[in-house]
Amino acid sequence: MAPEVRVDESFELDAVYCLPVYGRKPIALVRGEGCSVWDSEGRRYLDWVAGIAVDVLGHSHPRWVAAVREQAGRLAHVSNIYYNEHQPRLARDLAQLMGMDKVFFTNSGTESNEAAFKIARKWGKSVRGDSCYRVVSFTGSFHGRTFGGISATAQEKYQKPFAPLVPGFVHVPFGDDDALDRELDGTVCAVVLEPIQGEGGLRPFDNETLRRIRALCDERNILLILDEIQTGMGRTGKWLACQHAEVLPDILTLAKGLGGGFPVGACLTKGTPNEILSVGEHGSTFGGNPLAMSVARTVLGILADEGLIENAATQGLKLKKLFAGIGDRTGLVADVRGMGLMLGLELKQPIARKVVDAALPLGLLTNAVTDTTMRIVPPLVLTAEQAEEGAAILERAIVETAA
Ligand SMILES: *Cc1c(COP(=O)(O)O)cnc(C)c1O
Repeated sequence: MAPEVRVDESFELDAVYCLPVYGRKPIALVRGEGCSVWDSEGRRYLDWVAGIAVDVLGHSHPRWVAAVREQAGRLAHVSNIYYNEHQPRLARDLAQLMGMDKVFFTNSGTESNEAAFKIARKWGKSVRGDSCYRVVSFTGSFHGRTFGGISATAQEKYQKPFAPLVPGFVHVPFGDDDALDRELDGTVCAVVLEPIQGEGGLRPFDNETLRRIRALCDERNILLILDEIQTGMGRTGKWLACQHAEVLPDILTLAKGLGGGFPVGACLTKGTPNEILSVGEHGSTFGGNPLAMSVARTVLGILADEGLIENAATQGLKLKKLFAGIGDRTGLVADVRGMGLMLGLELKQPIARKVVDAALPLGLLTNAVTDTTMRIVPPLVLTAEQAEEGAAILERAIVETAA
């Protein structure tokens, strides 16, 4: 048997002083390097959670650490009252990489979506008047925790306790083309979707569906907002998941991987949305500060220089094969979905959350998004050996847990 997990003082302090919104696992992490993290008892774990698809470079990447140190020692924050050298340069690089035109910087995913919704609302008024304000999203989506975010998030558990929500957000069943077609009238300013739903069960929109939604939006002059907060920054084996379908949005939101662990997000626009907001209509105190911008520039550089996006594609294929092997040997795998290092492992029994708990003392951090779906989102620096190591632990945890 694996050693019993001991109680750390952090657990008691958390229970007394932190609002109880997180169901935490009973370890306190103190250090990380590459795809490994260590807890306060000195135990090592292979990290397949990556801070929820955030730590694209793994932990303590030397170039990332140097960038944080260097910029923190030079200039951290000055506000957007002034120019700083990094913000326009990161904006240029992101716009060029993503095929977009302009960028607004935020500190988180949900703020990036707030910016997107505000732009879409004002755009709607400018093209069709005050009645054009509705935003359509899909069941199972996740778009963040602010009021705009939860209003777009079509899952009851995130919405119900906080009603009434922001008016004008409409939900269409995932995969129901007819319902979408009926909903997209002149009162709709935007459709928002994640190319692969993350929190909602690792459910991808297939390429053809994405192209059809793009065409429908074009035909009816409705904006397409792609929430690539989780799927973006190379995770699926391309800079953006929508590039697999050769579809571009009018508004794109990013966060998670953008700072490689430093909190930063972005809302990018293309075409007519570029000119919608004017001075004073939107902003952020922290957004775009020199420290965050410098670190994000370094993340872009490392992803490109080290071929990490190609590595995500390669290791993703390797993991898919390893998971198929687990399925062959155990008969417990129903499906393997996703692309690159954003994979969903669908189990035949509702044991995904128990498998997560069984894998922990075996030395693997992993995550479940539903009772049957494991979310596999390792750092993009994952090696072939670490893919094998994690798959072996996962198989053991699945076998131990299964009825
Ligand atoms: C994580 C996530 C968000 C919210 O990001 P925060 O940084 O937690 O605000 C929004 N949309 C998607 C698709 C996400 O995965």
